[in-house]
Amino acid sequence: MLFRLTRSVFIGVTLFLLVHLTSCANLQFVFGPHQVDPEVQPYVDEFMYKAATYGIHPDISKITIHVVEFDEDRDDNMVTIGECIPDFFMDQSYIVILPITWRWMSEDKRVMLVGHELSHCVASLQHFDGLTVLNDKVIRASIMNSVLPTEEMLEPNMQYYWDELFCQEWHANSSHCPFPSALLPEN
Ligand SMILES: [Zn+2]
Repeated sequence: MLFRLTRSVFIGVTLFLLVHLTSCANLQFVFGPHQVDPEVQPYVDEFMYKAATYGIHPDISKITIHVVEFDEDRDDNMVTIGECIPDFFMDQSYIVILPITWRWMSEDKRVMLVGHELSHCVASLQHFDGLTVLNDKVIRASIMNSVLPTEEMLEPNMQYYWDELFCQEWHANSSHCPFPSALLPEN
């Protein structure tokens, strides 16, 4: 349920993050239900528009999304930059996005991060960490990879990533869907 980047990107911000952690357990009291952060709304709108072109209409009425420091999961090499947190008691899900990464992300990267987390929360999609070859380059096969595809992977291949997400992961029955591309095992 996590989107991760290499820790090297974060060397300069580690102290900042340590000082500004917010407990996920308190999110419902901070935000209230079913709110989308205004700075995220355009990317939710783009995701919904794209989904509709594949005949898919996700129900996001029980989703709350905010760009906010959160108590992200860490290991030796990765930092979590987004997470879907289901709240079964309140019958809703929270998506939290790490501000320090959101601010430097490209437009393409932002919409794919939002699409990744919405796919977790709305369609219960799991991570898919395969690779594929496109235009003679090996790229992460899906935005549902546990590691966000790089700018170099995303920007020339946005149509591929939308096709893969909605056709392969969401199982769209749409004339927009091409034949599946060959997948390679990671590593
Ligand atoms: Zn994830």
